Amino acid sequence: MIMDISTLSLTQVSALLQQGEISSLDLTRAVLDRIALIDDQLHAFLYLDTDRALEQAEKIDRERKKGSKIAKPLLGIPLAVKDVLAVKGMPCTCGSKILENYHPPYTATAVRRLQDAGMIIIGKTNTDEFAMGSSTENSAYGITRNPWDATRVPGGSSGGSAAAVAARMVSAALGTDTGGSVRQPASFCGVTGLKPTYGRVSRYGLVAYGSSLDSCGAFGHSARDVQMLFSAMAGHDPLDATSQNVAIHSMDFTKNPDLRGVRIGVPREYFLPGMQKDVESKVRAAIEIFSELGAQVKEVSLPHTEFAVPVYYLVAPAEASANLARYDGIRFGPRLDGENLWDVFTRTRGEKFGDEVTRRIMLGTYALSAGYYDAYYGQAQKVRALIKRDFEEVFKEVDTIACPVAPTTAFKIGVHGDDPLAMYLEDIFTLPANLAGIPGLAFPVGFDQEGLPVGMQLMGKHFDESNLFKLADAYQQVTDWHKRSPELK
Ligand code: GLN
Repeated sequence: MIMDISTLSLTQVSALLQQGEISSLDLTRAVLDRIALIDDQLHAFLYLDTDRALEQAEKIDRERKKGSKIAKPLLGIPLAVKDVLAVKGMPCTCGSKILENYHPPYTATAVRRLQDAGMIIIGKTNTDEFAMGSSTENSAYGITRNPWDATRVPGGSSGGSAAAVAARMVSAALGTDTGGSVRQPASFCGVTGLKPTYGRVSRYGLVAYGSSLDSCGAFGHSARDVQMLFSAMAGHDPLDATSQNVAIHSMDFTKNPDLRGVRIGVPREYFLPGMQKDVESKVRAAIEIFSELGAQVKEVSLPHTEFAVPVYYLVAPAEASANLARYDGIRFGPRLDGENLWDVFTRTRGEKFGDEVTRRIMLGTYALSAGYYDAYYGQAQKVRALIKRDFEEVFKEVDTIACPVAPTTAFKIGVHGDDPLAMYLEDIFTLPANLAGIPGLAFPVGFDQEGLPVGMQLMGKHFDESNLFKLADAYQQVTDWHKRSPELK
């Protein structure tokens, strides 16, 4: 059977598989065919595990025929995984030459849980080197293009995963979010993406960037899609000391949602004079829909928002400089020869790390060095506490915060090439959730004048992902932005 998967969401393929309308082998073949047809234009994938994926699909179909009655909604569905998550048997480059040909001997917990739920890992997707970036231009293996306009970036750092879902090559993908890397590419590509609460999904097997900020999230076409993935991958993991044992609410998505009694806060600091006008108008229009559905909407203030960029760009590089010290040419990846051990380290690191990673290591090392620690890192930690407190205060008044994901839609490839600071400023609305450890969900709420998707973000209290899913699902029941697809041939 030749199948057109180009319009199917995760929820839909799950239903078709469970009803026996399609087989996992049909689906996996269709996914691989579509990748072969269009990924040359986008370069979302760095690696495909074709043979094993087909083998697994066949095996799952055989077992399904035997008639196991256990409902497994994700059984037999292909999943794309960002190349900073370890999957045994596949390379894990982190978009870096320093991990070229590195094959981790274990699988990340989040991925393993989805494998246990029956998902088939189809391959690894492109990323900014070590997830440092907002455009996927910092990958050592080439850029990924935005499926809505190939002259533009897909966002980053999980740009490969977001583009793969947006281009309907896969219905589900995993990403990571340290400062916006799931939400911002979701917004740029017009898909739904979750950054869970810090500690909700295990970080075991997620190659560390900023350990106090890193999270493993997911992409799909709708809140329901992402919730399916989230509920399978979340939960306590003894292999990650920061993972928490908090029950995951089972979700019952009601038809014709009534949002009476729901309190939504709109932070005034998230609408800046310099931001793109149609981002503001589309996000405000979406907030209006929440009011029409019965929610109480009020303006709130998160006064320390303006410090999120400087705080993040001290804390994240500081943690990165420590985390990346392990890539010295001895234990991982390729090694350049040298006169002595020191020479081996410096030559390997000097040549194999890209410019952005080098910049972050230098910034972080400086911020942590004796004499500067109090002025930079110490100070940043104090202001981080204030940012967190802003949210605690606001969550006394409202249950959820609604705001834009990014100040612009997808920008042109190369525009921020010589200006890292301009690139960092793009992260202004996503960084605070990571600094505070709270969950954030991004989903499409319209298009700008150029036909590029505009995203909105909902942020919630710690461990309150279910509320974000509920609200986004209510919005998606009365709108169809999330069903739109780019035209790709
Ligand atoms: N753009 C941010 C950075 O470059 C966030 C990246 C991320 O979330 N991994 O650090």
